[in-house]
Amino acid sequence: MVKLDKVLIVGAGIVGQVLACSLAKRNIDCEIVEIKDNFDIAGAGILIQGTGLRALLDIGIVEEMGEVGFYDPEKNIHFLDTLGEVVLAPPDINIVGEGYPSNVAIRREAFHEVLHRRLEASGVPLRMGTTIEALNETADGIDVSFSDGTEGAYSLVIGCDGLRSKTRDMVFPGHDPEFAGFCNWRLVLPRPDTMDRPLWLWGHGKTLGIIPVSDTEFYFAGVGKASTTERPPQETVADTFRQKFACFGGPVPDLLKLDFGPEDVLYTVMEEVRLPAPWHKGRVVIMGDAAHAACPFWAQGGSMGIEDAVAFADELEKGDGWQEAVAAWFDRRYERAKFVQDGSFETGQNLTRDEESDEPKFFPPPVREMMAKQGAETAKRLAAPF
Ligand SMILES: Cc1cc2nc3c(=O)[nH]c(=O)nc-3n(C[C@H](O)[C@H](O)[C@H](O)COP(=O)(O)OP(=O)(O)OC[C@H]3O[C@@H](n4cnc5c(N)ncnc54)[C@H](O)[C@@H]3O)c2cc1C
Repeated sequence: MVKLDKVLIVGAGIVGQVLACSLAKRNIDCEIVEIKDNFDIAGAGILIQGTGLRALLDIGIVEEMGEVGFYDPEKNIHFLDTLGEVVLAPPDINIVGEGYPSNVAIRREAFHEVLHRRLEASGVPLRMGTTIEALNETADGIDVSFSDGTEGAYSLVIGCDGLRSKTRDMVFPGHDPEFAGFCNWRLVLPRPDTMDRPLWLWGHGKTLGIIPVSDTEFYFAGVGKASTTERPPQETVADTFRQKFACFGGPVPDLLKLDFGPEDVLYTVMEEVRLPAPWHKGRVVIMGDAAHAACPFWAQGGSMGIEDAVAFADELEKGDGWQEAVAAWFDRRYERAKFVQDGSFETGQNLTRDEESDEPKFFPPPVREMMAKQGAETAKRLAAPF
């Protein structure tokens, strides 16, 4: 076990909270600062796949996630064309373990609540409404000044502060998020009785996920091309979402008629962060979206961050010196996160390659080819130890 005095975690998102729980489990002293005053988790869902769930076994929340979210081994996801006909029906592959769900789709807020209860049980101190102001590395640690006027001395500082990471900016300036050319509309709605499995429609440069996230709710998530990062007026986003996906068939026309307005829709543009190797400098380490935010076409970004966090705690537990542990962690993570980031980006490019087709019934051939050819290889790589 690496001997450390105290670890500071910047950011209490998914990755920061998992890291805190994982460190506390190993009796490594840590604390978190979170810039927000309170957790206002946006109304959207998230699919935590086998990769993320397998890592979450470390902190013991997978069963509870399965109870709160949606998983049915008999009803695995179907990929559909624009008219809602099944193109691919992949088998349910479980890399998590016997008796556990192989993936869980869950409301983000519900996931946060499960994770946060675990964090509270771990006893790790969390300071809300606080961020870091200055980092000063000394001979035997790192001194930190905080926005609330306090100061502290730590062994390591871990930036888990997301896309616009201040920690990253302080140690690796100039690696801002890059616009990936897509935007998305996300909302959670009451789940119709007829909806029994996740569906994902692809075509005409767009995708639309229809994903149960509990017994009573589903997550509606559309992605389309965007030429600018400028936000449209919020009052227009529900209408634009309806218009954009009006050409899709199957269950879509009925779902678009459900009762929702602009206040229910979360509109964001997609951005990537590609922090070059290594993601650490001195006693500062960057992980999760702060290091490798990916396009969500593989729905793996959160899982890669969760793996970062658990692998980090594992290396501290196995190692003797912190420098060696940090280097070993980075070797474990870089290629794997890059594989997901590159693959997910390529899927997005393949989606838009045939967007000009005016066939009403359509599934992008490059996406079909990619899924058919690389599907098994990708699954094998993701199933490998993290
Ligand atoms: C449209 C979309 C769909 C997605 N779908 C999926 C999916 O289905 N499955 C999946 O696995 N992933 C998905 N992802 C990716 C996933 O959401 C992210 O990878 C994940 O949330 C990253 O977690 P994080 O903790 O690194 O960052 P964040 O979730 O961004 O958390 C960062 C935290 O740090 C805090 N913070 C920020 N700045 C500071 C500061 N200066 N000081 C202190 N605290 C600070 C923030 O307030 C926040 O609480 C999706 C992403 C998008 C955009």
